[in-house]
Amino acid sequence: MNTPAGYRGRFAPSPTGPLHFGSLITAVGSYLQARAQQGQWLLRMEDIDEPRCVPGAADEILRTLEHYGFQWDGEVWVQSQRQAIYAEVCSQLQTQQHLFPCACTRKQVIAQAEQLQLPKGVYPGTCRTGLNPQQTPRTLRLKVPDQSIEWTDQIQGIQQQHLQQQVGDFIIRRADQRFAYQLVVVIDDALAGITDIVRGSDLLDSTPRQLYLQQCLNYSSPHYAHLPVALDTRGDKLSKQTFAQPLDPQQAQADLWAALDFLGQHPQQDIKTEPLDTLWQWAHAHWQLSSVPKQRGIKI
Ligand SMILES: [Zn+2]
Repeated sequence: MNTPAGYRGRFAPSPTGPLHFGSLITAVGSYLQARAQQGQWLLRMEDIDEPRCVPGAADEILRTLEHYGFQWDGEVWVQSQRQAIYAEVCSQLQTQQHLFPCACTRKQVIAQAEQLQLPKGVYPGTCRTGLNPQQTPRTLRLKVPDQSIEWTDQIQGIQQQHLQQQVGDFIIRRADQRFAYQLVVVIDDALAGITDIVRGSDLLDSTPRQLYLQQCLNYSSPHYAHLPVALDTRGDKLSKQTFAQPLDPQQAQADLWAALDFLGQHPQQDIKTEPLDTLWQWAHAHWQLSSVPKQRGIKI
């Protein structure tokens, strides 16, 4: 693999709606960390789950990022244009016997896990040894090893997950023939030469699957830093699904200040009303990944 030298980070929103404060935190954290390392910051539209994408949302996201003063490097990567690459890597995994067809529905997997007293939704390997002639393959799953995956997150510290016991063989190609999030993220990060991933800790749980996929595909693994996630007043993660307020570019300074505060950077009160450029200058000069807390108690 031809990986360019130097730090390369990225921000990868899904165009399922406008950006909200939770996405701003990830954008700010990944951007400042990349620039602090004199690195590049790439943008990727994760529009692989087409039924959930909203027409026009991708453009709106780009406009919002511009209004907030972000400057990304190079062209925006668009997942929906990269299907052929994903298909090729999927066949490579198949040829290398990492995958098997699975006939189970989601409901059946939940029932099987319950029967075997496994944690909710853990796939117990039901179709690993092959399907009966009367069964129809629905998905393609990746065989996971019977061992723990351990890694050190730059914010969350040492992490560990036993893939077989805590996740099970996971889906690579879905029943609707779309490629799964875990696969496309790993492919895109590798082909874009991403060296460092800074993202929300709601994705912490996906990291071992991605690390294992990188091993299967002989890709080098990036470094990971998982930021605390913003919660709403009910304690749920802010997301488009929880109807988090869209970002309002008129509020860019106040929002950027709040994001820096959320990320433990202690911006002074008096810079809150400074022009956006001044706030960004302050942020670049003061950014410390080591000051970012693992979690935030404050609910937005
Ligand atoms: Zn199955």
